Amino acid sequence: MSPDPIERGTCPACGSGEVDRYVYGLPVPAVMEQAQHADWLHLQGCVVLGDDPRLSCRSCGHREPPIDPARQWGP
Ligand SMILES: [Zn+2]
Repeated sequence: MSPDPIERGTCPACGSGEVDRYVYGLPVPAVMEQAQHADWLHLQGCVVLGDDPRLSCRSCGHREPPIDPARQWGP
C-alpha cells in the first residue's frame, strides 16, 4: 500500500495533529482520491485569493502561512 500523497503533519505552533490542509490548483488523481476520505484535506481549486492558508490548526487556530496584516488588495 502506498502512503498518502499528502502528509497531514502537525501544527508548527502547538504541535497538534488536528490540522487542516489546503491544496490549491489541480490535484493529481491520488490526492483527489485521498481527499474523499480525509476530512482534513481540502481541495481549493485554482482560485487563490492571496491570503489562503495551506494549513490551519483546529486546536490553536494557527494558520500557515500566517496572515500578513500589511498585505492589502491592489497597489
Ligand atoms: Zn496549533
